[in-house]
Amino acid sequence: MGFERLGLSDPTLAAVADAGYSEPTPIQAQAIPQVLMGRDILGIAQTGTGKTASFTLPMIDILSEGRARARMPRSLILEPTRELAAQVAENFEKYGKNTKLSMALLIGGVNFTEQEKALDRGVDVLIATPGRLLDHFSRGKLLLNGIDILVVDEADRMLDMGFIPDVEKICERITKNHQTLFFSATMPPVIQRLTKQFLDDPKKIEVARPASTSSNIEQFLIEVSPRDKRKTLRQMLREEKIKNGIIFCNRKRDVKEVFMSLERHGFSVGQLHGDMEQSARMEVLRQFKENEIQLLCASDVAARGLDVPDVSHVFNFDVPGHAEDYVHRIGRTGRAGRQGKAITITTKSKIDVRLLEAVEKLTNTKIARINDLELKPEKRASKKTDKQADDVKSNDPQPSETDARESKSQVTEQEPSQEKSDTAQNSDSKTEKQARPSRRQGRSNDRNERGGRNASRSNERSDRPERSERSERSGRYTQNSRDRIKFAPDDMPKEPFIGLGPHVPAFLVAGIDSPKK
Ligand code: ADP
Ligand code: MG
Repeated sequence: MGFERLGLSDPTLAAVADAGYSEPTPIQAQAIPQVLMGRDILGIAQTGTGKTASFTLPMIDILSEGRARARMPRSLILEPTRELAAQVAENFEKYGKNTKLSMALLIGGVNFTEQEKALDRGVDVLIATPGRLLDHFSRGKLLLNGIDILVVDEADRMLDMGFIPDVEKICERITKNHQTLFFSATMPPVIQRLTKQFLDDPKKIEVARPASTSSNIEQFLIEVSPRDKRKTLRQMLREEKIKNGIIFCNRKRDVKEVFMSLERHGFSVGQLHGDMEQSARMEVLRQFKENEIQLLCASDVAARGLDVPDVSHVFNFDVPGHAEDYVHRIGRTGRAGRQGKAITITTKSKIDVRLLEAVEKLTNTKIARINDLELKPEKRASKKTDKQADDVKSNDPQPSETDARESKSQVTEQEPSQEKSDTAQNSDSKTEKQARPSRRQGRSNDRNERGGRNASRSNERSDRPERSERSERSGRYTQNSRDRIKFAPDDMPKEPFIGLGPHVPAFLVAGIDSPKK
């Protein structure tokens, strides 16, 4: 069945055709006619099933009759994150290009005055995150009594993020009789209660079992020791045929660390987490969507529901803390009928075992184990990458044991200043070029400053052989006083260095492992 049988107007159908869609997805086919008839909807569908068009398309047709009044938006769409809000706005622009609907976006990180100006002019569609909307409401800049259609999108995500009280407040303030479209990938009890309270005899549309994973995603699991996680990740990133991939970590801190670690190993990667400025988040998403970077290291909050079409791989650097997040994470791949691969790194720890059980129970699948992975020694791409690796490492907040052997060194020529590094790197390898855009953002100023200071030191010492390079020539594993495994040259003293922690200044070992001939 094509779109033309759903009751949409000709201008909207033309926009859909221009978007390149020939067939509606199941949720679109079921929801669109019902929304056009004015019914409340309860849509339960996993990510990537085309929910956005299932409400935007009929809304465009409903709203194209009638006019907006100042400060009284005619429809309101609540989204859990700024990125999702921005994405829905893009969809409205795309599908509504043949109508003259006005739209405003109320999200954090965007200037209040601009947003207020848009509201003052009157908007047909207001897309907002709950907190920001309530801010405007309490400042008297916004009236909710002109709302004919309310959309609550990604309700279970709102729950995870603690937004349900805000959503409830908003729902209570819309006193006018209105139509409510409610979407969620899963239906935990709190969400069920909310739907009972605020939906009026909704048409329930369920396109897949809640929390089921899409069948075109191959899922794998690999168990390693905690200190081998990063190395395992790198090896898989090298061995898999990756077009583009998202790497999920449970904590923001790990997102930052894994991002930095991958970057200094020459991968083309960006980061996305809640501590970043809105502009930086949007920029890294743009880079990822436009294939300027190949990998995105992300937290759940930042990445939930994002529409990044055609992601070939999802890596779980950690088993997610909530089983439902597993479904959302791997739902970033295998979208719109494509094939995807999801690989989860786990450890023997009790927590991981328990979390994994929860995931397998929820998804009702036994994830295939990769048992025969043998960690290979890593070769560095170039001397320069080595240096960069070592320098950044020394700034790393918490060097993991895996990377401890990279951390000894010292000096670098990385990032003296942005312009300089740009020109200096122009002739470098492809990997480095690809990685470069992501360096521009995502780093804190603090890091840049430190990079700058190290840079000047590096010029003085750049003729020295790099520590790790020397180690690779001949070496053995040794253990220092902090029980960190390190790679040490054969002719180093057998005893660990006492009192200096894991960072042994280069001058102390220089005479030992490169004896004068
Ligand atoms: P959800 O909100 O359910 O996670 P989206 O609305 O973001 O899913 O849509 C997922 C992807 O599928 C988007 O890239 C979108 O452009 C695409 N898409 C949506 N509807 C169709 C369709 N009818 N045909 C082909 N692709 C579609
Ligand atoms: Mg969505």
